[in-house]
Amino acid sequence: MAAEHFIYSDERFADLQMLRYRVPGFERLTLRQQVLLYHLSEAALWGRDILWDQNCRYNLRIRRMLEAVYVQYKGERESDDFRAFDVYLKRVWFSNGIHHHYGSQKFQPAFSPTFLREAVLMCDESSLPLSAGQNVEAMMAELFPVIFDPDVLPKRVNQAEGADLLLTSACNYYAPDVKQAEAEDFYARMKAQAPDPERPVMYGLNSTLIRRNGQLYEDVWRSGGRYGAAIDHIIAELEAALPIAENEQQAAVIRRLVDFYRTGDLKTFDEYTILWVNETQGEVDFTNGFTEVYGDPLGLKASWEGYASFVDREATRRAATLSENAQWFEDHSPVDARFRKERVKGVSAKVINAVILGGDLYPSSAIGINLPNSNWVRAEHGSKSVTIGNLTHAYDEAAKGNGFREEFVIDADTRELINRYGSLCDDLHTDLHECLGHGSGRMLPGTDPDSLKAYGSTIEEARADLFALYYLADAKMLELGLLPDAEAYKAQYYSYMMNGLLTQLVRIELGHQIEEAHMRNRALIARWTLAHYSEAVSLEMCNGKTYVRVTDYGRLREAFAALLAEVQRIKSSGDYAAARQLVETYGVAINPTLHAEVLQRYRRLDLAPYKGFINPRYTPCRDESGQIISIHVDYDESYAEQMLRYSRDYATL
Ligand code: ZN
Repeated sequence: MAAEHFIYSDERFADLQMLRYRVPGFERLTLRQQVLLYHLSEAALWGRDILWDQNCRYNLRIRRMLEAVYVQYKGERESDDFRAFDVYLKRVWFSNGIHHHYGSQKFQPAFSPTFLREAVLMCDESSLPLSAGQNVEAMMAELFPVIFDPDVLPKRVNQAEGADLLLTSACNYYAPDVKQAEAEDFYARMKAQAPDPERPVMYGLNSTLIRRNGQLYEDVWRSGGRYGAAIDHIIAELEAALPIAENEQQAAVIRRLVDFYRTGDLKTFDEYTILWVNETQGEVDFTNGFTEVYGDPLGLKASWEGYASFVDREATRRAATLSENAQWFEDHSPVDARFRKERVKGVSAKVINAVILGGDLYPSSAIGINLPNSNWVRAEHGSKSVTIGNLTHAYDEAAKGNGFREEFVIDADTRELINRYGSLCDDLHTDLHECLGHGSGRMLPGTDPDSLKAYGSTIEEARADLFALYYLADAKMLELGLLPDAEAYKAQYYSYMMNGLLTQLVRIELGHQIEEAHMRNRALIARWTLAHYSEAVSLEMCNGKTYVRVTDYGRLREAFAALLAEVQRIKSSGDYAAARQLVETYGVAINPTLHAEVLQRYRRLDLAPYKGFINPRYTPCRDESGQIISIHVDYDESYAEQMLRYSRDYATL
């Protein structure tokens, strides 16, 4: 298996780690689908500069200056200064600007202004971002404080109460002199005049609010308007995709998106999202546009992002197989017959493989996507929810070599089991949990569905997890072709117990309790099992370190069956006292000694808290007439090569 030898993990710098993701199944698509994906990928890359400019008005010029230095520097590249510069530029690339992608604070360079000054002076003037009439000295006088002075534009998005959130945020959605109160007032008035208050457009979504002749004015992001140069390239790629769309609905989606990019009309945008939600037949899918509003302190203006994807047939088949057999699982569940559903319907989940990540999804990406964001569109037309299988897989592969399993898994055999089956079992566990677990079981007549109150969500997650754990070890998994052999489930059983008893604690600060429902559920299941089935699982100390030892996997399954029966009883009968007892006894408190030990072991691994992805590279091969006859995919580009190529080939603003 080639995938075994694939290098997923690439570079590590600051608090970041770069991963590569593969696109399995791309070669099985038709040429027409591949070309369609190619154009949608290009469309997702052409918007890159929009995001950089949205994040801070100096970002594009600073990037140009830093890249000029990176390429042309003639001094010692192994010096401390240049190494620090290298890290700084990689962070800027990662964050699409000079502020941290997650925390939004400006990062401080570890090299001196003197170093940068000398390095800039080595560069060819034509490669530097000089404003009209500006010389190199004036450029440095303008840009250096933005890089070095911690008081200049310190945060991209300031949310601190009491300050003027616009004047104190570095993001570029509002002209620098626009105050929070007047912007809020501007949009409040606009909303008050909405022609259809039940179905409002997303006011402010696609414009920069500026002042013109003393009046506030929306500078709209559209062809011929602000960001028009980038948008025209996006339109060209969408139009190239249009004639090879997979179906008429998909073509309608693309057409309406192009209309939106041409006009900037937000009603057209809503029409586009409705068409998009309803396009479920194609294998290929994409989004491209102004989507998430986290980058605007007022939550109105959307950063640009794009991706292109296709259905992961294998994973989708897995979910479909479970759904088709939903009734069998319900009938054989180890709960009291009174609590089983007579007619059960499985939910089908969609798993996709990303082909490209662009804009605000690159290099740091979500692994699940649920869109659109308009509330009334969601209520009336629904939403699309997908998980991105190949990104999840890349995370999992990276986890194999990072020392985590070496530190926490008890022995080499168990580690080998997890390395072999862990990823597959995780996927299957998620499918069982989502497609069958939550939908299984029924309430006794007359039971108030809210009777478990604050414990309701933890009990509900426990129910779905236990359902999944119980069936992972069932012979039915082999019969349906979902697991390759009868040992595979053990990988999930061990990981689950280890996570619930030990490793999920790394996400909690010392001295705190477990609060989040999914984490409480895992602790509850693992600790209840430990307390009641000590012949199957135990905690063991070795050289001052605590490990989970599973001695009897079959017995462990019996434990999960017994707890599932009890949790289902609690849920079906609304037994609040029992729910409270279970959650409070097993799901909340943390032994401080164990917690400190786990945190210390984890810290010593020095793992990067944030990860991002290097995109594959797609090269079209054309015949003499210019027709694309194949798309070549490779994974060879380094992080820096990719960033420099994007800056060179997709520079628009
Ligand atoms: Zn759940």
